Amino acid sequence: MTTTKFRVRRSPVHGRGLYATADLDADEFLLDYGGEVVDWELAQQRWEAADGDPDHTFFFDLGDGRVIDGGSGGNEARFINHGCDPNCETVDEDGTIHIVTVRAIPAGAELFIDYRLSLDDDASDEAAAAYACRCGADSCRGTMLAR
Ligand SMILES: [Zn+2]
Repeated sequence: MTTTKFRVRRSPVHGRGLYATADLDADEFLLDYGGEVVDWELAQQRWEAADGDPDHTFFFDLGDGRVIDGGSGGNEARFINHGCDPNCETVDEDGTIHIVTVRAIPAGAELFIDYRLSLDDDASDEAAAAYACRCGADSCRGTMLAR
């Protein structure tokens, strides 16, 4: 696969991030979100086993009780940070998640998607707090969770 459109480097927002390495057009396909598909229960167990380290929350919510664990067999897509006003979106095609730009993005800009995570109702406050958002967008809702 080509990696000329983006690369991973440290992000001021959170851990590492994915950055455009070329000027991107709107509606440009970047990559698919790689990783093992697991249910939220197992994902939560893995998160707790990682001692709640937010750098180990590489989960993409499929919206049906399952998530893609990008920390298991994943690719660069797991480093895309959450943003409340994202410049990329995810397109679900039969459970394959395509990451596509939603507007023109200049080279060097960080790429964001809206995670819209939905934790189980019985998820702990501590777990919910781990998904606090610091993206800095005017429309930031303060959490990576769908609200
Ligand atoms: Zn935000």
